[in-house]
Amino acid sequence: MAKMFIAGESVGSNSGQTYNVINPATGEIVDSAPKGTESDAGAAIDAAHAAFQSWSETSAESRAQLILKGIEAVKKELNDLAVLLTKEQGKPVGDSQREIEHFLHGMNFYAGLASKIRGSYVPLPDNKMYGMVLKQPVGVTGAIVPWNFPITLMGTKVGPALAAGCTVVVKPASTTPLTTIRIVEILNRAGLPKGVLNVVIGPGGVVGEEILRNPKVARVAFTGESKTGKHVMEVAGSRMKRVTLELGGSDPMIVCEDADIDKALTGASVGRFYNCGQACLAVKRLYIVESVYDQFVEKLVGKVQRLKLGNGLDKDTRLGPMHTKTQREEIESQTQDAVNRGAKILIGGKRPEGAEFEKGFFYLPTVMTGAPHDSRVVTEETFGPLLPVFKVKDLDEGIEKANSSQYGLGSSVWTKDLGKARRAAERLQAGNVWINSLHIGYDEMPFGGVKFSGIGREHGPEALEYYLEAKGVVVAT
Ligand code: NDP
Repeated sequence: MAKMFIAGESVGSNSGQTYNVINPATGEIVDSAPKGTESDAGAAIDAAHAAFQSWSETSAESRAQLILKGIEAVKKELNDLAVLLTKEQGKPVGDSQREIEHFLHGMNFYAGLASKIRGSYVPLPDNKMYGMVLKQPVGVTGAIVPWNFPITLMGTKVGPALAAGCTVVVKPASTTPLTTIRIVEILNRAGLPKGVLNVVIGPGGVVGEEILRNPKVARVAFTGESKTGKHVMEVAGSRMKRVTLELGGSDPMIVCEDADIDKALTGASVGRFYNCGQACLAVKRLYIVESVYDQFVEKLVGKVQRLKLGNGLDKDTRLGPMHTKTQREEIESQTQDAVNRGAKILIGGKRPEGAEFEKGFFYLPTVMTGAPHDSRVVTEETFGPLLPVFKVKDLDEGIEKANSSQYGLGSSVWTKDLGKARRAAERLQAGNVWINSLHIGYDEMPFGGVKFSGIGREHGPEALEYYLEAKGVVVAT
């Protein structure tokens, strides 16, 4: 049975209750995990609070060294961790490995930045006085993480927090706690002082809620659905906690008549179907300029047909199962809504047949045309392998349609014309614009959304600022 990790120790829940973590490809039990309570979350927060002063006063250089030691220790277990991640999440094992490597890259990035945090000296009008701006860690951070990229999205919070001198309580999604627990444990055993990094498992409405409410938590870094994010903002924000929200998206991709069609096809196929379409920054609406529409759609369907569906542990699998039964039902209901309103399915649109798919939550990669712009596949986030395609007159119509969404996370434009690319980059209402490139998050670049896609940024040196407070100190000489 898996355990939580609190104050340097592996522990069960105070309630003694456990639940099973299910493999989405087979329906089998991967392991059981403790079902944490408010008091378990309280214990993790107390541990992080007790460790804060000492960690915040540990030199930046030493903090970085401890993170680096942890990275080396995780690397040694990379293969086993990747298999575990595939078993609990469903994604192909190569993608699990890349996810953990991405996590390590991000941790390394922030370890490198720890010693570059600095304040400033400020001349004041009276030259017998001067000011200093100190950059100080905010305190205990709650890191609330979803199930689609449980490890990288933990890293985007834990990396800058530890580098800045904050202590952390991680709350993974209930359906993907196992790899998180193992990694937190490895980082601790590699030398992090007890209480600096803790993980508590349990329902969001119980354990997560305690993180939002507990006065010892100074900051909440949340990734998840926009609806949950709104709740996080209301509860944590009204308690004056620092909050960043990385929420849902409905990323548009616009293909112009002068695009490199083959590259754009890869952009659409990988961009939509990676992780079985369960990515915040997946391509969720595809707008193609009319002169290249027919050839693009025909080639896209051919490409999608070749995607191999299966258990993530099989080497050839490109598309694993959806993560849960509920996720699949949601995609089915969104597809049905579009079909009822006149959309045409070009490929997919149903569950695959065959004994190997019977127990898992599989759904065929789906491409549809003709969905009205007020159907659910456009107005809501589609979190699965479903791509609605639309014909537009030109780039300007593409941008107008792209912007007609409540979301504003990512977007992309595919053109060889730099003038058009620049116009799109400036006008698209999104936190991120990719030009002729895949929707991918880089540790080096700030990432986050506008509108209902969230508040604040993760990744990049920009993310560190959310873990620091600027304190003004005035000195009379
Ligand atoms: P949820 O919002 O359902 O859950 C996210 C996390 O919040 C889970 O750990 C969950 O715990 C927890 N939680 C649930 N209720 C509460 C609560 N009342 N208080 C505190 N915590 C709570 O999202 P999903 O797990 O379904 O994740 C998918 C979503 O995440 C998609 O919308 C996706 O777009 C978005 N996302 C955004 C990214 C970005 O960077 N913008 C990146 C990746 C995903 P539990 O599992 O126990 O319910």
